[in-house]
Amino acid sequence: MQLNDVLARIDTDINAATDRLLELLRIPSISTDPAFAAHCQTAADWLVADLQSLGVRAEKRETPGHPMVVGHVEGDGPHLLFYGHYDVQPVDPLELWDRDPFDPQIEETPNGRVIRGRGSSDDKGQLMTFVEACRAWKAVHGTLPCRITFFFEGEEESGSPSLVPFMEENAEELRADIALICDTGLFESRVPAIMTQLRGLLGEDFTITGPDRDLHSGMYGGLAMNPIRVLTKALAGLHDETGRITLDGFYDDVPELSDEMRAQWQALGFDHAAFLGDVGLVTPAGEQDRTPLEQIWSRPTCDVNGIWGGYTGDGFKTVLPSKASAKLSFRLVGQQDPEKIRASFRSYLEAQLPEGFTVEYRTEKGSPASQMDVSDPSFEAARVALGEEWGVPAAFAGCGGSIPIAGYFKDILDMNAMLIGFAKDDDNIHSPNEKYDVESFHKGIRSWVRVLGALT
Ligand SMILES: [Zn+2]
Repeated sequence: MQLNDVLARIDTDINAATDRLLELLRIPSISTDPAFAAHCQTAADWLVADLQSLGVRAEKRETPGHPMVVGHVEGDGPHLLFYGHYDVQPVDPLELWDRDPFDPQIEETPNGRVIRGRGSSDDKGQLMTFVEACRAWKAVHGTLPCRITFFFEGEEESGSPSLVPFMEENAEELRADIALICDTGLFESRVPAIMTQLRGLLGEDFTITGPDRDLHSGMYGGLAMNPIRVLTKALAGLHDETGRITLDGFYDDVPELSDEMRAQWQALGFDHAAFLGDVGLVTPAGEQDRTPLEQIWSRPTCDVNGIWGGYTGDGFKTVLPSKASAKLSFRLVGQQDPEKIRASFRSYLEAQLPEGFTVEYRTEKGSPASQMDVSDPSFEAARVALGEEWGVPAAFAGCGGSIPIAGYFKDILDMNAMLIGFAKDDDNIHSPNEKYDVESFHKGIRSWVRVLGALT
C-alpha cells in the first residue's frame, strides 16, 4: 500500500529531515526586532527555495513588514491551504539558555532526543512537519497528493500587522477548501488534537464617580455613598452562588455541547485537580453543572482583571474616594456578540448606580469566538487519521485562548480551518531552551501524510 511506502520513506529520511530543520533554525528570524529584518528575508528565501525543490511555484511576497511566502502546486481533489510562520520570538534573557539559541543541536535527554533551539517548536519545526510530509509524498508518488497552497507568515510573533491586509488583497489566490494550521499542541502532551473551538474576548475598563472630590470619612462617612462600595457590590453580583454569570441574555447565544463532543472530552481523562494543583488551587470556580474541560473550552467567562480606587499607599488615610475603577474581561463562545454582551453589562452596571453617580468607559474592541464546522467530513477523516498514528483516539479540542489566524481564514476567506499541532507543554515556547522532541517532529510528519491520505 502506497501510504505505507510514504511512511517508510519518512522513517528512512528522518535524519536528513532533521538536518534541514536545523538549517532553518540557524537563521535568526526574530520578527519584532528591526535588527533581524535581513534574517527574516533569509528565512523566507530559504523556504522559497525549499518549496521550489518540491516543484512548488513559490515566491517571496513583500509586505510593509516582513515578507510572506506563498506557493502553489496544482493537482486533483480538494484544494488545501497550509499555514505556518517562520518568524520566532526574541531570545532574551540569553544567559538562561544552555546553548546558543541559533546554533541548534540534537540533545539526548532522559525523555528522549530533542531538537534544542529558538523556533524548534514554535513554529519552524511544526511548519516543516508539513513540508517534509509533502517531500516524502513526492518522493514516492512523483507528485503531491492534491492542489496545495503554502502560506507562510513572518510576523506572527509580532502581532501579524500585514496579515489581514495581505489576505484581503490576495483573497482570490488564497481561498481554498480548507486551511490546515500547524501551530498548536498535543492535549496534555500525549493526545493528538484538532482545535475546533476558540473563545473570543471582550474587555471593559471603566471608572465610577460619586462625590465630586475625595471626602473625609469622619465628616461624610455614613451619609455619603462610597463609589468603591457601589463598584464592589456590582462586581460581586456578576456571578451567582453556582458560578453562573447573571447578566441579562448572557447565555442566549451559547450553544450546548453535543453529546458526541462531551463523550470525547470525557474520554480525555482530564485531571482538573492536578491542573489546579499546579497553580496552588483546590476549588474549581466555574459553573457547577459543567465539567472542568467545558468550563475552560466551551463556556463563557467573566473575570475582574483589576480593581482600584481610594488610598492604596503606605500608612492609612481615612478617605472616602470620589472614584472607583475596574477592568473586566469576558471570554466568549458560540455566537455571543461582543457588542450585545457589552450592552448587557453596561445596563446592569448603570442600574446599580445611585442617582447622581456617573460612569466613564474606556472602550476596547471585542472579538467573537470562532467555531469550526466539524460537520465538514474532513474533520472526522483527519481525526481518525491522527488516531492511527498516535495510537490513541484524537480529540476535537477546545482552546480557552484566542488564535486569531483561524478567525481570519473564516472571516476573510470564508474557509474552515483545522488546527493540528504536535507541540508539548514542556517545549518552552517563547522561553529560554525551547525544544521540539525528535519524536514529535517525526510523528508530526507521519501524521500529515496520514491526514493528506485521508483528505484526498
Ligand atoms: Zn507560533
